[in-house]
Amino acid sequence: MRRQRPGAETPAVKEQARTDFVRDIVAADVEANRLGGRVVTRFPPEPNGYLHVGHAKSAWLNFGIASENGGVCNLRFDDTNPAKEDVEYVDSIQEDLRWLGVEWEGRALYSSDYFDQLYEYAVRLVEKGKAYVCDLSSDEIREYRGTLTEPGRDSPYRRRSVEENLDLLARMKAGEFEEGSRVLRARIDMASGNMNMRDPVLYRILNMPHPRTGDRWRIYPTYDFAHGQSDSIEGVTHSICTLEFEDHRPLYDWLLDELEIHHPRQIEFARLNLTNTVMSKRRLLELVESGRVFGWDDPRMPTLSGMRRRGYTPESIRAFCEMIGVARRDNTIEMSMLEHCVREDLNSTAPRVMGVLRPLKVVIENYPEGQVEELEAVNNPEDPAAGSRPLPFSRELYVEREDFQENPHPKFRRLAPGREVRLRYGYFIRCRSVVKDSAGNVIELRCSYDPETRGGHAPDGRKVRGTIHWVSVPHSITAEVRLFDRLLVPDPGGNGAGEALNPDSLKALTGCRLEPSLAGAAPGDSYQFERTGYFCVDSVDSSPGAPVFNRTVSLRDSWKKTLTSSAAGTSR
Ligand code: ATP
Ligand code: MG
Repeated sequence: MRRQRPGAETPAVKEQARTDFVRDIVAADVEANRLGGRVVTRFPPEPNGYLHVGHAKSAWLNFGIASENGGVCNLRFDDTNPAKEDVEYVDSIQEDLRWLGVEWEGRALYSSDYFDQLYEYAVRLVEKGKAYVCDLSSDEIREYRGTLTEPGRDSPYRRRSVEENLDLLARMKAGEFEEGSRVLRARIDMASGNMNMRDPVLYRILNMPHPRTGDRWRIYPTYDFAHGQSDSIEGVTHSICTLEFEDHRPLYDWLLDELEIHHPRQIEFARLNLTNTVMSKRRLLELVESGRVFGWDDPRMPTLSGMRRRGYTPESIRAFCEMIGVARRDNTIEMSMLEHCVREDLNSTAPRVMGVLRPLKVVIENYPEGQVEELEAVNNPEDPAAGSRPLPFSRELYVEREDFQENPHPKFRRLAPGREVRLRYGYFIRCRSVVKDSAGNVIELRCSYDPETRGGHAPDGRKVRGTIHWVSVPHSITAEVRLFDRLLVPDPGGNGAGEALNPDSLKALTGCRLEPSLAGAAPGDSYQFERTGYFCVDSVDSSPGAPVFNRTVSLRDSWKKTLTSSAAGTSR
C-alpha cells in the first residue's frame, strides 16, 4: 500500500515512519496479542466538506498502519448529521483518497448503515437505567450543564422510569414529537469534571430526510454516540483520532463498557496545522460559499482537490505526511515544508520548458528575416532518459521584461543597453538600442547576435554575466498563467487572533508566451518553466488552444534554506 516511487523515500523519512508513538502502541498491542493480535483501523470523514491535507495526514496514517501490520483499514463516512452532509462530498472524498494512493477494505462504509444497531444500543442503555428522555430545550440543557468551574444540575426529567423512557424513545422514533422538543441523554454524572460526561445527548429529533436512509428516521444519533459504537461494530482495534477527542474518550469508554461490546483502543495525535491557511471545513466552506475562492478545488485551498489542480503530486503529499511524522501535542508546520516536498518530487519528474510570463520583444537585427533554425534543448537534466527537444530560433524573440533594465542596478547581471547575455540553449545577444512608446515605456529591444556562440559559448573565451530564457515570437503559443501566494495573511484590522484572505493570493497574467512544445500540454500536465517555477495545466479553465497554467510552486526553496541554516532537527 505504501506505494512509493523507487528512490523517493529517504532513509530519514523511513526511520521517522517506523518510530512514531502511534505505531509503537499498535506494535506493542500486536506483540502482546491484545485485541486479538489483529489491526483494524479506519478513516472516518464526515461527508460535510472536501478533504484537506490534514485529512491526508490522518488517512495516510491509518491506511499505513493497517498495511504495515497486515491488517485492514475501513473508509467509513460518519454521516449522522443530514443537515450538513451531501453526496457531493461522499464522491469527492473517495476520489481524493484514490488519488492520494490510499486503499480501503471493500466498499465504503457508513455510520447510517448502523442506525438500527445504534438504536438498539440506545434502548439497551435505557433498559439499564443509563439513559433517559429529557424535555429541556437546548438552551436549558446548556444552562443546566454548568461550567468548567461549577457542577451542573440534574435535569428534572432525569428520574423518569425505564418504562416511561422506553415509551417516549419509541415515540420519538415514530415521529410523534416536534424537532427540538425532546432528546435522549446518557445518565452519567452532572457533577463530573469532564463536561462531556454531564449527561451528553445521544439522540435528537430531526425532521429531515437522510441522503442514505431517506425518511426512515426521525431521530438521529449524535456524533459522540455514533462514532465509538460504529468503530466497535466494525471491530476496529485502534481508533486513531485527533487530540480534541481526548476529552471524549471517557464518554466513549463509558458507553462501550455499559453496552458491553467490543472496545477499541483510542489513540489521539496532534492535528496538522499549516501556516497561512485553515484546516477547518467550516471555514473552508465559508470561503467557498462567499465566492472568495473559485470553489473547493481552488488551487489556493489546502484541499486535496485544490492541491491536485495546482499541480501538487500524491507522492509529494505522502512524503510530506511522513516527514512531519505524528506528534502528541499540537504544532504548526511551515507551508514551506510542504512546498519543499512538492519541489523535490517535481524536480525529478517535470520536463523543463521555456515560458515568458511578461513578454518584451527582442529583434535581432543581424539575423536574416524569415530564417528559422532548430536548437536542441534538454528535457530534464535530472533524468537523462527524458531526452531533448528541438527549439525554434528566429529573428524575433520574447524575453522576460524583468530581464532588462535600462539603467541597471549594480548587481543586475542580465540585459541592459550595450550589454551581452546568453540565451538559454542559444546564442549570445547584445542590446544595441531601445524602442519606446509615446509614454516612454520600453516596448522593444534591438539586439545583435554572435553567430559564433551557438550552444552558449564564445570561441574567443569571453564570458557573459547572465543567461536568460526566451521564446521565438512566430512559434510561441499564448497562455494565461496564474501565480498564487498564501491564501491567508494575519488580519490587519484584527488583534492577531484572526487571519484574512490575502488580497494578493492570485495574480492572473494573460498574454504569456510559451515555447511551441507546450501546444500539446494536457490538463494536469506539469512542467518546470526554466527560472520561473513549476506549472501545471489547469484542469477546469483550460480549453484547446487557450491553456491556463497554474504555478504549482516557485523554484526557490526557503525550507531547504531553513534546514541547512539551522542545526539538524531543531526546525521541526
Ligand atoms: P474539520 O475541522 O476540518 O471539519 P473534522 O475533524 O471535523 O475536521 P472529519 O471529517 O471528522 O473532519 O475528519 C475525519 C478524520 O480526519 C478524523 O479522524 C479527524 O480526526 C481527522 N482530521 C481532521 N482534520 C485533521 C487535521 N488537521 N490533521 C489530522 N487529522 C485530521
Ligand atoms: Mg469531525
